[in-house]
Amino acid sequence: MDGLSSKISLKKNYRYYFLVLLFAVAVLVWYAVFCESRAGAEIYFLDVGQGDAAFIEASNGNQVLIDGGPDRKVLSELSKVMPFYDHSIDVLIESHPDADHIAGLIEVLKNYKVGAIIEPGTVSDSSVYVELENLIKEKRVKKFILSSGAKIDLGNGAYFDVLLPPAGADTSKMSSHDGILVLKLYYGNNSFLFTGDMENKMENYLVSTDSAGLKSDVLKIGHHGSKTSTSELFLGWVQPQYAVISVGKDNKYGHPTQEILDRLVQFKIPILRTDEKGTIEIKTDGENLKVAN
Ligand SMILES: [Zn+2]
Repeated sequence: MDGLSSKISLKKNYRYYFLVLLFAVAVLVWYAVFCESRAGAEIYFLDVGQGDAAFIEASNGNQVLIDGGPDRKVLSELSKVMPFYDHSIDVLIESHPDADHIAGLIEVLKNYKVGAIIEPGTVSDSSVYVELENLIKEKRVKKFILSSGAKIDLGNGAYFDVLLPPAGADTSKMSSHDGILVLKLYYGNNSFLFTGDMENKMENYLVSTDSAGLKSDVLKIGHHGSKTSTSELFLGWVQPQYAVISVGKDNKYGHPTQEILDRLVQFKIPILRTDEKGTIEIKTDGENLKVAN
């Protein structure tokens, strides 16, 4: 090979590497754009075993995690639904201080940068609750105690209305299943009701105060399908298209109970269970719901 042709081939190689590099950069940029600008909102009921954890991503990329399940499993489930480079979550919401809802939030606080945490103000003397509260202070995460009437705006038309606890109620004196944060997520014409471990007493309270406001397309069934929740009256007002049950396989509590499963069948509401389907993914474009599995 003479000097001239070796020069040319060197130049060609250089161009080739440059093109590969350019292509790789373009792929990364488009991946980031694709992940950040999703049309509509995505709601994931994470498969965390016996407990609750729901991850919501709005179309502008704002992210919310409602409860964290009973342990570290939430971390591997989050890594499946979040981009690999994303190590922050805008808002954590603690529905109430029971361990099957907050133990995983401790792991999330240790592993993600969290913008703020929202709580009902209900207290517990359990070690897991004390650890969570200490970690919130240590990490200087902004904490908000919210009640009925509050709104959490995710932007681009997605927002939560806080339905419970009742405004003015002293939640520090309430039991964990009474002093509970219940939220309704709105996106366009679609809505999702997150009930935590709400039981019949507070269901009745909601029916008596704002029955018409309960109608939702998706109902996260209260207290993992326990018979102490999801009364016929409450279900009749919510009238969901889908019922989601967040529950662990062969759990010691016998959740969900046959009574509640029968009731949902009687109301002709399709049941989506995390112990059967794993993480449940529902997308909304503001008009229609798409259940991925
Ligand atoms: Zn629970």
